Amino acid sequence: MADAEVGDDVLGDDPTVVGLQEFCADLLGKEAGLFVPSGSMGNQVSLGALTRPGDEVICEAGAHILHYEGGSVGAHLGLMARSFPGVAGVLSADIVADAIRPGNDHAPRTAVVAIENTHNGAGGAVFPLDEARSISKICRERDVAVHLDGARIFNAQAATGNPVREWADCADTVTFCFSKGLGAPIGSMVCSDREVITEAHRIRKRLGGGMRQVGVIAAAARVAIETGVERLVEDHEHARRLAEAIADLDERAVDPRAVQTNMVYIDLRPFDLDGPQVAESLLAEGVLALGAPGFMMRFVTHRDVGSDDLDAAIGALRRVLSP
Ligand SMILES: *Cc1c(COP(=O)(O)O)cnc(C)c1O
Repeated sequence: MADAEVGDDVLGDDPTVVGLQEFCADLLGKEAGLFVPSGSMGNQVSLGALTRPGDEVICEAGAHILHYEGGSVGAHLGLMARSFPGVAGVLSADIVADAIRPGNDHAPRTAVVAIENTHNGAGGAVFPLDEARSISKICRERDVAVHLDGARIFNAQAATGNPVREWADCADTVTFCFSKGLGAPIGSMVCSDREVITEAHRIRKRLGGGMRQVGVIAAAARVAIETGVERLVEDHEHARRLAEAIADLDERAVDPRAVQTNMVYIDLRPFDLDGPQVAESLLAEGVLALGAPGFMMRFVTHRDVGSDDLDAAIGALRRVLSP
């Protein structure tokens, strides 16, 4: 980061950013990329570039864009979101086929279907490639775009061996994050065709997401994408090991077979504890985990958690969960 060559990315001449955008577009098999500060902004510029105000976006009921992005789809883009419950975060092609509106002046125009891979709310579940292909086929036939919120798409690749570009082929726009398991401090990428990226670029500016000497953070993102992808399998092994250790304490808390990637959601009811309580006790032992009010708790494994750290976390969990 200290050595990064920088320019002014608002004017489009920061060589580190330009290089990163090209590298990522190539990787995903798209024409162009756009570096954005966050995944939420990536989703917004993508959806904004594919729609007009008053259009409808179809998504799964637990989608990140619906629950964790401050209502941006409505507030900033003027879109309506219509959601349908899926299975493990997966919106089925049959649901999509029924949901797309026939198109008349009375109904909103169904402009885009948004899918999420891996699915955060569904515990890091992978969106099966077959289903993504079926959705893509239906959408293309009916002139509806597909957006892939692929914040953790590289985890899906690590879990299945399917190259990310195969999922990217199913979508018009793809967002992914450098700042999750890949390990960079900041930044996300949007990839699409050149025309859509031009429009996304305008919206990024509108949202205040144009940054100037941003090669400094693009340099870290470049390290993340070049060195962070192959090692994700290690995170998945760690997550599985963590889930197994917790299931050993009480098998009602988590099913290790449901852990597909780097997230472990556990149910604290068998231990008669709540999320904030456990998070606080773990923090005192040097383990950071998400304990929202209630009985669910989320653990995420990542680049900075080595095998020894995992053993330490498991030791701390044994002490905290079984007094
Ligand atoms: C993290 C995440 C995002 C983007 O989040 P930011 O905090 O805005 O970077 C989008 N979608 C999913 C599924 C995510 O997990």
